Amino acid sequence: AERAVLATWSGPGQTADGRPVKLLANVADAASASAATSEPVSGIGLFRTELCFLDRDTEPDVDEQAAIYTSVLEPFASEGKHVVVRTLDAGSDKPIAFATHPDEENPALGVRGLRLSFADPGLLHRQLDAIAIAAERSGTECWVMAPMVATVAEARGFGEAARERGLKPGVMVEVPSAALLAHKILEEVDFLSIGTNDLTQYTMAADRMATDLAHLTDPWQPAVLQLVAIAAEAGRQAGKPVGVCGEAAADPLLACVLVGLGITSLSMAAAAVRPVGARVADVTLGRCEEMAEAALAAVDPATAREAALAVLR
Ligand code: PEP
Ligand code: MG
Repeated sequence: AERAVLATWSGPGQTADGRPVKLLANVADAASASAATSEPVSGIGLFRTELCFLDRDTEPDVDEQAAIYTSVLEPFASEGKHVVVRTLDAGSDKPIAFATHPDEENPALGVRGLRLSFADPGLLHRQLDAIAIAAERSGTECWVMAPMVATVAEARGFGEAARERGLKPGVMVEVPSAALLAHKILEEVDFLSIGTNDLTQYTMAADRMATDLAHLTDPWQPAVLQLVAIAAEAGRQAGKPVGVCGEAAADPLLACVLVGLGITSLSMAAAAVRPVGARVADVTLGRCEEMAEAALAAVDPATAREAALAVLR
């Protein structure tokens, strides 16, 4: 029966009883953005801009950046769609020659993501200028978000820089401090997007690249789910969207749990959209909430999964 649902489901993203859940694509370039348009998505939830520059020794100027971003935005220029562009997340697992700080003892805890702009604000400002040009040229509803935000002041600074250019600002929740202070951060920006890959890494103190720590770097860890719950609740109280754009959003069972926690959008590799959409469409919001409650009460990932599945049976 499930396969039948999967074969016929074509959106829009919503629970069985009609609670909307935006389904969005994670993209890296114009090719992946254009490919995502053949899936039932409401837009792009994560454009990883740093992936455009992995082979660049020098920073592309504003014009060149604007051309690249326009080519990614253009396929989503239609009504009701939006694109979330993430500013450079250079450093750690994504070294960028012109932005990454060399010789850090501990790059995952170093100058990465928004932290690059502390010493060199020009890098962020030129990128925001280019994104604003691309938004205008492509005629898309374009939101921008910053990676690796840890403090309210960082969110405020980013929010101001984005609004000055007419862009709607948000921040990623990838550091536990940002989840715990989500209510304060939402006084500064218009949306949150939870990066569960890094949020899990930093909550569990376990390197996301370390295959022998896979039992720890599991987004079903109840401690991670509790942080997701805190951020989602902050969004509900502020009346602002809180999405998930990490790998967790691509797990159909976990997607139901996230919806039950109050998450309003799920962004994932385009290939995961149909399985996730079909699963969510088969479950009521009340059931999702029961699944979330059961998973939150578990003591480890295996029992959290079991508990969520048991609600469905
Ligand atoms: C994440 O950390 O979950 C995320 C979406 O960002 P990235 O995987 O690019 O670090
Ligand atoms: Mg991340």
